[in-house]
Order: sequence, then structure tokens, then C-alpha cells
Amino acid sequence: MMCLRYLFTMLTMRKLIRATPHKILLRAAIQCRTTITRAILEVDEFGNKRKNVAGLVRATDGDRFVVVMFYEPEKTALGESKVWVHCSCPYYLYHCEVVNAKHKSSDIINSNGQLPLVRNPRMIPHVCKHLVAMARIAVKAKAKDMTKAKEEKEKKKKTVPNKREANKPAQKQEQQKKTYTNRPVRQPPKPMATPSKAQPKPAKV
Ligand SMILES: [Zn+2]
Repeated sequence: MMCLRYLFTMLTMRKLIRATPHKILLRAAIQCRTTITRAILEVDEFGNKRKNVAGLVRATDGDRFVVVMFYEPEKTALGESKVWVHCSCPYYLYHCEVVNAKHKSSDIINSNGQLPLVRNPRMIPHVCKHLVAMARIAVKAKAKDMTKAKEEKEKKKKTVPNKREANKPAQKQEQQKKTYTNRPVRQPPKPMATPSKAQPKPAKV
């Protein structure tokens, strides 16, 4: 089930890159080296499947952490799937975060949530050089499928509501068994041993 409420307003990576100033695109090409640190297929809180790619971008002015999440992950062109993006750099914080969050293509994580009236007065959603550099690699990155693992986990949860609870009776029984076996069995008092001599010998036939 797709949550149309969000996917309708979200933007594609191509749209974000096309709105990005030319000087930023140049810096992305010249200054940035990218490394992918995570690429997984997962399901978000609304049941939408997405490819979640995180990476480290080494630029001439420092290292930054970026996250790009592609909705409809089977599509591998930048203009096809809607994205959620974020970067830890100050450019993203002051120019992009609030505007992108208004389109649901980001969230307010580092900024105070105020509109960038000075730095981005026309409120154009776009991205920083780190995200531009990461975009093309991220969209083609092979992702580990975590959706099935999650489904199986939920199935297990449904069948066994609480593992501890379910194991309790068995454990109790085992414990009882243990206590029984550990407890020294009280033997009935042995009859007084009588000297064999006193016993009458069976008569020989
Ligand atoms: Zn950045």
C-alpha cells in the first residue's frame, strides 16, 4: 500500500538536481569523493518500500554524512522515483532542509524550522554538492533486502506473542523435574539386619 499523501508532494532526485545552482553542481564534480556505507531495501512506517542508502562524502572542506532514500526502488533512473534526502553540511542546513521538508522530501533535523528567507528566498527545493555527488551512485547501488526479514519477524511475533511467556510452562516443568531428580529420594528404613546365623537354615532335602 502506497501512502499517496506523501508521495504526491515528494520530489524526484532529478528535479532536485535540476534546481541546484550550477556552481554547486561543479563543486560536486570536482571536490567530492563518495563512499556508500549502507544500502538496504526496507519498508517505511506507512508500508512503502524504499531503498535506503547512506554514505560518506569526502570533500575538500570536510567529510559529510548523506542519506538518500528512493521510493519505488525498482526504478533506477533519477527522474523516476521520489526521494527523501539529507546531508549534515551547513549548506543543506541553511538553504535546503526546511524547503525540502515542506515537500516531504526531507525532515527538519538540524535547523530550527524557520524558512530560509535570506539564503533561499524563492523557496526552491534543491540539494547540496554532497547529495549531487552521491545521487548517481546511490540510485544504482545494490541493496540488501531487509523487507522479508522484517515480515518474518512480524509473523513470528504473531504466532508467538511473547517468547518468554511461551517458554515459561516448559521451563517450569523442567525445573520441577530437576528438583525432583535432585532431591534425595527418601528410602524406606531398612529392616534390621538379622544375623544369618540366627536364621534357621533351610533343611536339606
Ligand atoms: Zn551537503
